[in-house]
Amino acid sequence: MAQSDPARRNLRELPKAHLHLHLVGSMRPETLTALAAEAGMATAIPESFVDFRHFYSTYVLANRVIRDAEDLGRLVLEVVEDAAIDGAVWVEPTLYLDSFTEVIGPGELILDIVADAMRSARDEVGIGARLIVSADRDLGPADALRQARLAARGDPGVIGGFGLVNDELAYPIEDFTEALEVAKDAGLALVPHAGEFGGPDHVSAALGLGAARIQHGIAAAADKALLGRLARSDVCLDVCPTSNVAVGAVESLKAHPLPALVDSGVQVSLNADDSLLFGCSLLSEYELARDAFGFSDRRIAAIAGSSIVHSTAPEPLKSAAEAGIRRWLDRAE
Ligand SMILES: [Zn+2]
Repeated sequence: MAQSDPARRNLRELPKAHLHLHLVGSMRPETLTALAAEAGMATAIPESFVDFRHFYSTYVLANRVIRDAEDLGRLVLEVVEDAAIDGAVWVEPTLYLDSFTEVIGPGELILDIVADAMRSARDEVGIGARLIVSADRDLGPADALRQARLAARGDPGVIGGFGLVNDELAYPIEDFTEALEVAKDAGLALVPHAGEFGGPDHVSAALGLGAARIQHGIAAAADKALLGRLARSDVCLDVCPTSNVAVGAVESLKAHPLPALVDSGVQVSLNADDSLLFGCSLLSEYELARDAFGFSDRRIAAIAGSSIVHSTAPEPLKSAAEAGIRRWLDRAE
């Protein structure tokens, strides 16, 4: 067991990529407090989330404290800094570009502001980063198509992929086929949320529509044939254990399907999803893999390796990170 391991390797020093995190939901708590005070808003972060709706309303509040380009730049920089602090060499935050239409401007403007902020943050922090542009399922296929076209016109050096967030039960992925095709034709990786609250059929549908990675995808564990199909595919599940329990998608960490997914040979990455709301971090999810799930360092290194391989990072960065993971594992136990 991990507890009896005499000299456990430092998980912070393990090179890794953070692939499933929402930009605004990754805001530092102190930044939320500071920005809320500047904007004259009262903000409180609940200690627990009774259901997904409660979680979502808090998320909306966090969005409202972003008032201008400077706030957005600060957010991007801090998210990249926090990834680096946890040992990430690459980070892919996701954002719905029309989140700030009333206070800052349309998605076109936000795309430019965030792209500039990502370039500056990469230079300043010294790790790689690209943005995942996400469509909001709740706003329907026409808006998703607009988001895909926005993503497609962005700098490919900064925009890495296209995602789909929010209610997968009311708005299944098939409704967004046109948007996904526009993004794919532009060379963007498709990284939809699926199989968080929806069943294995939602994961299967995402696979069928060409997902490069699936955010969550944990429902696949209930379908043996699908697990086999995933294991044979080149698709990675971007799993967020703390988030899954916090929003009630999984009853407890003990009941979490992460070990079943890994045992089946499915490639997974570990991620925080919304660190602001769940009080977790990229590093804390790796610590959970060791301390709650009892994974060996070899198994944890394989997860870090999957996060690198399935990221949208350029090849030289991937090779360097993979060599770093091998060096981490080679350290004396
Ligand atoms: Zn998510």
